[in-house]
Amino acid sequence: MKVTFLGTGTSQGIPVIGSTHPVCLSKDKRDKRLRVSALIELDGHTYLIDCGPDFRQQMLACGCEKIDAILYTHEHSDHVMGLDDIRPFYFKQGDIPIYAHKRVLKSLKKKFDYIFKTENKYPGAPTVSPNKIKNRPFVINNQEIIPINLKHFELQVFGFRINDFAYLTDMKTIEDKEVEKLKGLKVLVVNALRIEPHYSHLNLEEALRFIKRVNPEKAYLTHISYNLGFHETVEKTLPNNVFLAYDNLQITI
Ligand SMILES: [Zn+2]
Ligand SMILES: [Zn+2]
Repeated sequence: MKVTFLGTGTSQGIPVIGSTHPVCLSKDKRDKRLRVSALIELDGHTYLIDCGPDFRQQMLACGCEKIDAILYTHEHSDHVMGLDDIRPFYFKQGDIPIYAHKRVLKSLKKKFDYIFKTENKYPGAPTVSPNKIKNRPFVINNQEIIPINLKHFELQVFGFRINDFAYLTDMKTIEDKEVEKLKGLKVLVVNALRIEPHYSHLNLEEALRFIKRVNPEKAYLTHISYNLGFHETVEKTLPNNVFLAYDNLQITI
């Protein structure tokens, strides 16, 4: 399985528009972070986790030629606003399968009503085939995917486990029974927003404590704000098996 980190930044991305914060002015490429998303390539299939506002740029950067499914974590704008740009994939492949909680599907229908329209649809608009997911394993192309239920302040969010890889973003809290699903991971991806605590995201200290509890072979941090600091400086402070993800990083599991 190959995982590409398409974006590793928090909702505004880094640099933030108009900001003169030193991290926003950094020359280090790893300090430039698009909105969070990941591409998973497995057994000839390509799965996208979230489809945010930088989707077009991300697809061009990774040279992606097809998408077999989009898995949604939740409906916040930084995770969904790229859906219109699936058009090149739709023209080539037909309806694009999407998988999300029923609340997220409802929100997508509201935001992109023209995409979900069944009558008098504008021919240039893409079409998706929506699949409701609950907190129980589901199968796409013979591949089992295990949702992990998370809380993002009071909002329910899904993380996903695929074989020995798990991707959790926009998490603040998790129930013990959900942590049980994360046993024996080779790679865990989890959000770490900044140094200071935040009401809806893990900060660095909480993320490191969570990683210790889950005990994967390796962990990567994502959904990063400029308040976390420079990539180079922060990475030096991390345990040996924990890394800061950066845009376009590829890992093989
Ligand atoms: Zn987010
Ligand atoms: Zn969010």
